[in-house]
Amino acid sequence: MPIIPARLASSTTPRCRGASPLRVEAGWPSLGASGIGDELSPQELLRYDRQLQVFGLEGQRRLKSLSVLVAGAGGLGSFEALYLAAVGVGRLVIVDGDVVDPTNLNRQVLHWAEDVGRPKAVSAAEKVKKFNPFVEVEPVTEPITRDNVYELVKRVDAVIDGLDNWEARFLLDEATYSLGKVFVHAGVHGMEGQVVPIVPGETPCLRCLLPESLSSPPKVPAVGFVVGMVAGMAVAELVKIFTGVGRSNKGRMLILDAIDMEIVRVDLKPRKGCTCPGEPGKQ
Ligand SMILES: [Zn+2]
Repeated sequence: MPIIPARLASSTTPRCRGASPLRVEAGWPSLGASGIGDELSPQELLRYDRQLQVFGLEGQRRLKSLSVLVAGAGGLGSFEALYLAAVGVGRLVIVDGDVVDPTNLNRQVLHWAEDVGRPKAVSAAEKVKKFNPFVEVEPVTEPITRDNVYELVKRVDAVIDGLDNWEARFLLDEATYSLGKVFVHAGVHGMEGQVVPIVPGETPCLRCLLPESLSSPPKVPAVGFVVGMVAGMAVAELVKIFTGVGRSNKGRMLILDAIDMEIVRVDLKPRKGCTCPGEPGKQ
């Protein structure tokens, strides 16, 4: 069973009511919320040499000027931050209000035994910066709340979900949808996981897909290699949206079943009556 029952499956992905259209330049979402440029140094061109055949110089420059908020520095967030840094995303804002616990170490690969008790955002930011010094990394040691979510989202071009609770996910869904920013939802449960790339104005919002309130279990079963696979899928979808490489699965739920090693793609439809964020005056 997927974490979210894909009961709203449909063959179409019509526009969500009340959406703020995503700002598009040359067919791609706009970039540059962080104000960093897209010039690549000779050292960076060398570092990314093996992937320039995939993204091209223009794609790599777009990645350099991209800023992403990594919501949560736990299992998903660790792999997401690592993969985003590896591919050359220019700026990461890593947000997590927790400290490292011994039970995190089976899957949260940016936190090591010596980090137990330290703030996760700081521990993660340190490792990412060491891993790729060309990436700007900002740790934020606060939980995502209604008070800070809009200010955080305004500072980036996109948000990737590394969370384990629905309350914060829905806050991010509202803020990203209202502000016209890409939001890639990801979740894991044991040997299963799911990814939903959400593009305001083009796809349903997260609330459309999940109209009922969902409780967040205190202890979600999680295995490192499954978390890594799901995080890789989420980063791949985000990178595809911003580089134009490959076929985007925006508006679809990707469900990974690592028991049988299958990925199922389900088309999603807006929920009738959903007051999608982004309606005038909602913010
Ligand atoms: Zn909606």
